[in-house]
Amino acid sequence: TNPVFTGIETTVFETMSRLAMAHDAVNLGQGFPDVDGPRDILEKASETLLSGPNQYPPMLGLPELRQAVAAANKAFYGLDDDWASEVLVTSGATEALNDCLMALVEPGDEVILIEPLYDCYLPLVKRAGGIPVRVRVTPPAWDLNADALAAAFNDNTKAILINNPMNPTAKVFTQDELQLIADLCKQHDVYAICDEVYEHLVFDGAVHRPLMTFDGMRERSVRIGSAGKTFSLTGWKVGYVTGPAHLIDPIAKAHQFVTFTTPPNLQKAVAYGLGKNADYYDGLAGELAGKRDRMARGLEALGFGVLPCAATYFLTCDISGLGLGTSDVDVCRKLVSEAGVAAVPVSAFYGADAPGGFIRFCFCKRDEVIDEALARLASYL
Ligand code: PMP
Ligand code: GLN
Repeated sequence: TNPVFTGIETTVFETMSRLAMAHDAVNLGQGFPDVDGPRDILEKASETLLSGPNQYPPMLGLPELRQAVAAANKAFYGLDDDWASEVLVTSGATEALNDCLMALVEPGDEVILIEPLYDCYLPLVKRAGGIPVRVRVTPPAWDLNADALAAAFNDNTKAILINNPMNPTAKVFTQDELQLIADLCKQHDVYAICDEVYEHLVFDGAVHRPLMTFDGMRERSVRIGSAGKTFSLTGWKVGYVTGPAHLIDPIAKAHQFVTFTTPPNLQKAVAYGLGKNADYYDGLAGELAGKRDRMARGLEALGFGVLPCAATYFLTCDISGLGLGTSDVDVCRKLVSEAGVAAVPVSAFYGADAPGGFIRFCFCKRDEVIDEALARLASYL
């Protein structure tokens, strides 16, 4: 087998979901909402399933979805994208990440990753022939060390892959941090691949600003979004990449031989969804923030060291106060099999030498499910 995949385990999200099922546990591991997104978007998809289109759509995506993505980028961030040449529809953000790395990275190029990192980043960078260079943000605040970041850039650096808002840290990068990244990218002539799937799941007045909007970054950045997160429909796997035509063009060349297209009915329904007004987006973030607070209060009362959470679906916790040991993997194993609650060990988001001692809970669940998980944890601890 290809050495890139030797020693790679099945993704932690699948592993924990299987364990949750096997133990009949409340699944707070893998990140997915337990209530489907808006009814009208589902109706739109079912209508178009019956009426069509049901045949191959254009390789770049249905024009109406590409137009809707460009319009949303304009409305939210003031970005001017030419929908015909600067927007590509993919089968989820995961495919988009793969396509971007395949297209932009050549064997031997260095790619900077910020750790903890989303678990597909390392294998995809390596399989593209890239050399991952990891820079850590450190808990509890997950601050980015400017010197460490600057030291990671050199003449071999081709790209930085940045996830903002960030999974699993629930961090929104500060303006200063983004400015620093932008300055380094410009100084070293580096691409920025921006995984912004949690762009709309941002709380307490925090502002998400795409790196692409910083001076001089438009021509060297691509931005990845996911309807899965924006519309609470993670199984749909509809994603989009936007960026300058000279980058979208090679990325589309990768896409055409990976999936070629994405189901047209779902594309139509997502195009419709992107027409929703600010109330929808505010409502989604407000509802999630309430769930975050409900879970954070409960976990804190049980002795978890809940870290700040400004965005995403996730709460990260320090487990050192629980008396269950310091291995996050062992604690997650115990919690799923003995307490009946699945979480994810944060060490799964590190390439090597993970600090350990932190686990991640997903809070985008119905209130009664959150309460049931807290009750199970309370009787176990
Ligand atoms: N990037 C990050 C940071 C994620 O957390 C996820 C998973 N939700 C993805 C990409 C994948 O998104 P999709 O389901 O659209 O492929
Ligand atoms: N992004 C999700 C998470 O972090 C998982 C998606 C997946 O299982 N591939 O939980």
